[in-house]
Amino acid sequence: MNKVIIFSAPSGSGKTTVVNHLLSVMPELGFSVSATTRKPRPHEVNGREYYFLEESDFRKKIENNEFLEHEEVYRGILYGTLKSEVQRLWEQGKTVIFDVDVAGGLRIKKEFGENALSIFLRPPSIEVLMDRLRKRSTEVEHQLQMRIEKAQLELQFENQYDVVLINDQLEETLAKAEHIVRNFIQSE
Ligand code: ADP
Ligand code: 5GP
Repeated sequence: MNKVIIFSAPSGSGKTTVVNHLLSVMPELGFSVSATTRKPRPHEVNGREYYFLEESDFRKKIENNEFLEHEEVYRGILYGTLKSEVQRLWEQGKTVIFDVDVAGGLRIKKEFGENALSIFLRPPSIEVLMDRLRKRSTEVEHQLQMRIEKAQLELQFENQYDVVLINDQLEETLAKAEHIVRNFIQSE
């Protein structure tokens, strides 16, 4: 049975940290590399963190129905999950793991139903979230503001997820995430 794991959370909640940990300890997982029109951050590599596309190319793929879901996550910045990405990973026998925003996560859950486990990663508070985002220092101030506004909206959707995981102490979060994901993969 082809399974998928969805991690969604407001930006800065720790998705990348948790998903990278899971990928490093569970070789049976394969990361779904999304497409985006945002510019790469230092150290990000095309085809590893994202497929970095020009907006015109992204829009062509929308027209060709190549996306499982796509979203203007932030004003003027598009993100999307390619159908080909899920096929590629399933063909390798992997369980697919997604790091997507809350709307995208709900859409993917709807698509895969029982074969999907949707996990909402929540920061202990909005203040902690702001602090983590500032310390990450990857966004300029107006982008930070955009992310925090969106976070406040997204936090209202946690009850539509299969599991809510609060990311307070990182080591504890990583252990819990691993336990939840292993249980799901082993279940019938
Ligand atoms: P996301 O992918 O959800 O945007 P990141 O994984 O980039 O979030 O995490 C945001 C920042 O918070 C990073 O700098 C990360 O190192 C830090 N971080 C993640 N989890 C914790 C935690 N439990 N305690 C403290 N800092 C954390
Ligand atoms: P970042 O720019 O910080 O890498 O990601 C911004 C947000 O976009 C995150 O919440 C991330 O989960 C979300 N995101 C990344 N890829 C996709 C995708 O394919 N679809 C959707 N809907 N959201 C995505």
